Amino acid sequence: MPAIMRIPESIIKLTRARNRIIIIDTSKLEGNILAMKSSNTSKQTICARGAINPDTLHGAVVPPIYQNSLFSIRNTGGSPFVYSRVSNPTVDFVEKGIAKLENADRAACFSSGMAAISSAILSRVKGGDHIIFTRNIYGGTRSFIVNYLSRFGITHTLIDGRDPDELQAAVQPNSTLFYFESPTSFLLTLLPIPELVSVSRRAGLSTIIDNTWASPIYQNPLDLGVDLVVHSASKYLGGHSDLIAGVVAGSDALMEKLVNEERTTLGGCIDPHQAWLLGRGIRTLAVRMKQHRESAMQVAQFLSGHEAVGMVYYPELPGHEGRVESKAWLKGSSGVLSFQPKGGNDVSQRIVRDLRMFEVGPSWGGFESMSITPGFGMGIADAAFIGIPENLIRLSIGLEDPEELVADLEQALEQR
Ligand SMILES: *Cc1c(COP(=O)(O)O)cnc(C)c1O
Repeated sequence: MPAIMRIPESIIKLTRARNRIIIIDTSKLEGNILAMKSSNTSKQTICARGAINPDTLHGAVVPPIYQNSLFSIRNTGGSPFVYSRVSNPTVDFVEKGIAKLENADRAACFSSGMAAISSAILSRVKGGDHIIFTRNIYGGTRSFIVNYLSRFGITHTLIDGRDPDELQAAVQPNSTLFYFESPTSFLLTLLPIPELVSVSRRAGLSTIIDNTWASPIYQNPLDLGVDLVVHSASKYLGGHSDLIAGVVAGSDALMEKLVNEERTTLGGCIDPHQAWLLGRGIRTLAVRMKQHRESAMQVAQFLSGHEAVGMVYYPELPGHEGRVESKAWLKGSSGVLSFQPKGGNDVSQRIVRDLRMFEVGPSWGGFESMSITPGFGMGIADAAFIGIPENLIRLSIGLEDPEELVADLEQALEQR
């Protein structure tokens, strides 16, 4: 494994004596990130240490925040960084770590998940094209395709996504993009990704997946032939409910276009400070995902065995839709699961109101447990549109003691 590059002491002394600074071009640094690409380093180690220390000057173990809008070439003789809408060392540094986690040539950070998603979609379509997407993708993405892109003559077809033949049947002569999420939101149905990708490829479509739920720790869709992976980094990647950010990852060719055209032109770049916070979140991503998974499994098992509960939706429960087929590529599950209590929407609303440890609202992926049900935390019409049962309760299991979460659910389920 190559050693971390060290700047010779004599050069440091000389530059200090002449009152000059050393600028380190992290994009060319042959440090641990690059070494990890060629070895089989585990994701946990990439998370913890993938962010190499670029500060060979002071030895700071945490990379500095380059809170700059611009960079001068006077003393560098040409650094790759010129202006932070285009690129920035702190952002670059975080992107390299994420690229490694997604097995991508390159990753790019954005100011939000929606900035990442809209830019990724725009990079693969033009006026007059046709997009096929699965029904229960993230609401903001659906709205972008249905309400916004339609203004430019871009049409769309919604499919369920479980049957690759349905995708084949939806292809039109002007189709150029297939966009989906797996697991689907709320019911967490696991779609047959390799089959969908092969239909999509044969039809000449680009494929984009929103991989926010599984995170790069448990699913790497680029390995299955998907062209671009998008994430809302506001969820698990950030993990502390303190930042809004987005990510796109893919091949050098697709990413080059996306960064140079969509990100630079539309200006959806991430702020260096947000990028630094994101890098901090990622250091604990693997250990957090492990705990979210363990705790969610404990909650799912408790709910499955409870007499007041009907269906439980969690990809690791036996009999979950698509579970057997997806074992090859879904290596684990995150902390988001859903269930239906016995009874109607009045019962599910009462349960969510009676929970004490779960906050109520639509987001997830943070340290705190969340809950939501149609009519309480989300609209009833939205739920009906994406086909989720009126009594469905979605939980995001946070990092609290799972025994205490189970006890809270138990009291809420038992009050009548
Ligand atoms: C939250 C979310 C988004 C949108 O991301 P923002 O960071 O809020 O813009 C996209 N997809 C999924 C699956 C999400 O949960």
